[in-house]
Amino acid sequence: MAAATPQVERAAKGAKNSAALAFLRAPKQLLINGKWQPAKSGKTFETINPANEEVLALIAEGDKADVDEAVKAARKAFEEGAWPKMSPHQRARLMFKIADTIDQHADELAELETLDNGKPLTFSRNFDIPAVAETFRYYAGWVTKIYGETNPSDPSFFNYTLREPVGVCGQIIPWNFPLLMAAWKLGPALACGNTCILKPAEQTPLTALRLGELLMEAGLPPGVVNIITGFGPGAGSAIAEHPDIDKVAFTGSTEVGKIILKASAGNLKKVSLELGGKAPNIIFPDADLDQAVPTAMMGVYFNSGQVCCAGTRIFVQRDRYDEIVEKLANFSKNVKVGDPFEQGNLLGPVVSREQFDRVKGYLSIGAEEGAKAAAGGAPVEGKGYFIQPTLFADVNNNMKIAREEIFGPVGAAIAFKDENDVVFQGNDTTYGLSAGIWTKDVGRAHKMARALKAGTVWINCFNQIDPIAPFGGYKQSGFGRELGKYAIDLYTQVKSVWMKLS
Ligand code: ADP
Repeated sequence: MAAATPQVERAAKGAKNSAALAFLRAPKQLLINGKWQPAKSGKTFETINPANEEVLALIAEGDKADVDEAVKAARKAFEEGAWPKMSPHQRARLMFKIADTIDQHADELAELETLDNGKPLTFSRNFDIPAVAETFRYYAGWVTKIYGETNPSDPSFFNYTLREPVGVCGQIIPWNFPLLMAAWKLGPALACGNTCILKPAEQTPLTALRLGELLMEAGLPPGVVNIITGFGPGAGSAIAEHPDIDKVAFTGSTEVGKIILKASAGNLKKVSLELGGKAPNIIFPDADLDQAVPTAMMGVYFNSGQVCCAGTRIFVQRDRYDEIVEKLANFSKNVKVGDPFEQGNLLGPVVSREQFDRVKGYLSIGAEEGAKAAAGGAPVEGKGYFIQPTLFADVNNNMKIAREEIFGPVGAAIAFKDENDVVFQGNDTTYGLSAGIWTKDVGRAHKMARALKAGTVWINCFNQIDPIAPFGGYKQSGFGRELGKYAIDLYTQVKSVWMKLS
């Protein structure tokens, strides 16, 4: 589609970093075999600044033909290239260098992330980008610690295991933490010696493309990381279906996760899926409410609620419900939403017009279902995809707003009777990514942690995420665990070697 030339100054209002602005003005192409090239179709698409709805840049629209070429490059780099055969010390050094390069470019990357995604600069600069560097650094440390085992075989044999890379990995990522999700995928894959085809989300391709440039500058061999921008049904499905991709890792909606799982059956790819959530965050009356109230509400509003592990179902014990919900609502009313470049704003816009309409739809559904907007309840007037931080009260767990993932700054306060009731209600969901518990009673906290069906349980905290700890879902929140040593399992396969000794 022919598109107007982006007006960078206008679209990138608020950005100050000269390198970020220079990057915006340069062409955005696909990274294949260490070279930047346009999509074979010549097509491009627009990436929009959700804070002002202006076009930031035109992006190459890769599709099957481009994915095919990227897979050839990744296959060659895997079978014949230096990367999988490189000494672990050398590979680790290169990954440490990548982490340092990200730190050196943190201001620029943070501004690009804020422009493309809409998240406040405070968060992109102090959370996302440092976490990206830390993820590469953490997995750089793993490169020299990926061990096989010797096994207690019959003495006339020797049996040992080798942990080998899986091969060519397709990695399809979402738009909520664009560069961090790239790091969660690339960090462990590269540490284990795999080669990759990364597909950023069409809404937020900028930082992945800049990362591609930085990877090349850091000296990553050609073909080890290929970056194909484009849409889900084009580039994404070509990756999921490709007969020469060995593994696909996906983060995104449960709906698309199911499509990817089906598509991967053709050549039985190894699959890991990190999908949606509708986490219970349970506030017992004995909790430290001064901590529980702001942390629980920011567990809904952080990143404008576009977080798969967001604690969107806040459970409050019935006999203190009104009092605690009032505190939650008062906190919500004081959360500032607005220009993501302005200090003090905790919420920016949601990522796109589509997401804005979707969240607005849920605001209407909540009202129709009889829930009461104790805070917010409407979009913010004017340009940009801003939505008021919203807390619905008088919600019951069967309402749509309590069952479906909204992916916006919308929480639901639900009453519970006692421990048994809240375990039942908390687990009464198709999802199981995370859960939160607020109590001073240590025994109760641990009992609840066992009873809740979720891949992560936070006690007296929320959204604590670090590459040291595994992250992933129970039930329809997916399978496989990213981060920690568990991601090494995702990106290696085990070979058992037998030798006869006599
Ligand atoms: P959301 O619905 O929150 O936008 P998606 O799950 O649709 O999230 O998107 C996450 C990622 O999956 C994006 O990179 C998107 O392009 C990709 N994607 C969407 N549809 C498909 C598909 N049919 N096959 C492969 N990838 C897809």
